[in-house]
Amino acid sequence: MIKTRNTSQKQLILEAISHLEHPTCEEIYAEVLKQDDSIGRATVFRNVKTLTDNKQLVKIVVPKGALRYDMSIKKHSHFICDRCGKVLDIFYLPNIDIPKSNLYEIDGYSLIFTGLCEECKKKER
Ligand SMILES: [Zn+2]
Ligand SMILES: [Zn+2]
Repeated sequence: MIKTRNTSQKQLILEAISHLEHPTCEEIYAEVLKQDDSIGRATVFRNVKTLTDNKQLVKIVVPKGALRYDMSIKKHSHFICDRCGKVLDIFYLPNIDIPKSNLYEIDGYSLIFTGLCEECKKKER
């Protein structure tokens, strides 16, 4: 049955992401392979997209980097290190007034802080 198969593939993907820190699609694929090496790359990528469309996953747009994914747990912001690209959670979201327009319907926003992570700051000295 195709349907059951799809469900378990999605579960494998969600499980893989829960073990990783804001992984890219490639990293999710590598982790899923450890559990089931019969899953193809395209299948994983397609399922990640479906999970994102269903809002079970949140996509993090990284400037100059590959998209990363996060479980859609409590809404939070992210910190991205300018040097090594590390992504960290920041459980802070400011209250902003969401602009209204007939041209679009906003259903979310994301906030990304940038700077240097602890390790990169140490290397700087
Ligand atoms: Zn860093
Ligand atoms: Zn996060």
